[in-house]
Amino acid sequence: MNKEILQKVYQVSDFNKKGHLLIDQLTSHLEDKINANSRNAINWNEPEQELKFWKDFLVHGNEKDLFQEITKRTTYIHHPNYLGHQVSPPAPITALTSLISSLLNNGTAVYEMGMASNAIERIVIEIICNKIGYDANSSGFLTSGGTLANLTALLSARKAITKVDIWNKGTQNQLGIMVSEEAHYCVDRAARIMGLGDQGIIKVPVTNKFRMDTELLELKFNEAKEKGIEIFAIVGSAPSTATGIFDDLEVIGTFAEKQKIWFHVDGAHGGAGIFSKKYRHTLKGIERADSVVIDGHKMMMMPALTTALLFKNEVNAKATFSQKADYLLSDSEHEDWYNSGKRTFECTKNMMSIHWFTLLKLYGEEVFDANVTQLYDMGANFAKLIEEEPNFELALQPMSNIVCFRYFEPGLNTENLNELNVKIRQALLGDGEFYIVQTKLKGIHYLRITVMNPFTTAQHFKSLIEKIKHLISRI
Ligand SMILES: *Cc1c(COP(=O)(O)O)cnc(C)c1O
Repeated sequence: MNKEILQKVYQVSDFNKKGHLLIDQLTSHLEDKINANSRNAINWNEPEQELKFWKDFLVHGNEKDLFQEITKRTTYIHHPNYLGHQVSPPAPITALTSLISSLLNNGTAVYEMGMASNAIERIVIEIICNKIGYDANSSGFLTSGGTLANLTALLSARKAITKVDIWNKGTQNQLGIMVSEEAHYCVDRAARIMGLGDQGIIKVPVTNKFRMDTELLELKFNEAKEKGIEIFAIVGSAPSTATGIFDDLEVIGTFAEKQKIWFHVDGAHGGAGIFSKKYRHTLKGIERADSVVIDGHKMMMMPALTTALLFKNEVNAKATFSQKADYLLSDSEHEDWYNSGKRTFECTKNMMSIHWFTLLKLYGEEVFDANVTQLYDMGANFAKLIEEEPNFELALQPMSNIVCFRYFEPGLNTENLNELNVKIRQALLGDGEFYIVQTKLKGIHYLRITVMNPFTTAQHFKSLIEKIKHLISRI
């Protein structure tokens, strides 16, 4: 056995030296990006070029440059010109809690493998349930991402609502869920994983304001029922990812109650609004949901992945993966909060609760209010600037920090405008000063920003608009 190499791997002094160096490097990175000392939010590289670089680095690269190169060759989430996907610029302290989790590597699934993280998780969950407006019967857990949390919630729904014990006996029945056509694709994926197929995913069209058209709920439900589909759940988006528009949770909740089906709220992005005094109204009705998903790594300043999945009724949180029906769980199983692996899809899980707890302990709940409120305010601010521009138009009035807009010239048809906006986005990517994304809504190509950085200002927005005008003159 080559023991020498293993001793080298675990050399503590080496960890200490490299660790201090890395913290210094990352500190410079943060200073540079947060203060926008360097121009770019992204240094775009073609995938093949990037691949070549790393193949070459593995053989010829200098070990000393490794961390620096990785850092450099990323998209700079902390830069105020980063306006792309919905991941947070993590609060630096949560990079340190990530380090703790990685080094200690307590898998959290059973109490003995994460005493602190399991107890802390329970406290965090209680705080979130309270904020939702749930009572003492509620519970939940943290899990690895909104995608997995949505799948888990739908599995809980199926267990709680359908007449057949599918977990044990399987089923030939056609089951179904109802969801807005603008919902995140992971809901569709979850339904397919569960074997619902095309037929079992009842897509409810959206209104011209991109909300789920709740006028159609009864009709869609009855149509499905006539086809023999047993609908067990309806999913409300809070908000939907592409548009940032919130479904009417109150109305969906009433519908679900009436039909005795499960009401799930996908608040991966906007669920954090429960902490915002100013924007809590976007989630009106959320307390009626049987389950709610909230991502910590989106609007709550935490590193990926950490997602809260909350249940109005604790029994359902525990029954999802149990062989027994929920009403058969023994008392000890009900009390077994500290073995979280029984309830989660994952077995081994990061000590993710420590991010939440550390932010709460150091800054208090107000920090989530401050962040959500600031980011949503800036979404409205950007929309106003777009409205003032003669050659730009909004797809719709934003309800959050997600804003879809496009460049517009009279005389060009939809196809030409679509092509032009695709080119604008590609030119922006190549330029690198700003990072924004794009989406298609009802056949129209839009540019899309999500304000994720609390230090992005109107000045940054104005520069983005000027940059787009400048790029157009060269397209
Ligand atoms: C981001 C998002 C998801 C997916 O969550 P992940 O944490 O990326 O897996 C699901 N639904 C909505 C509405 C989202 O915004």
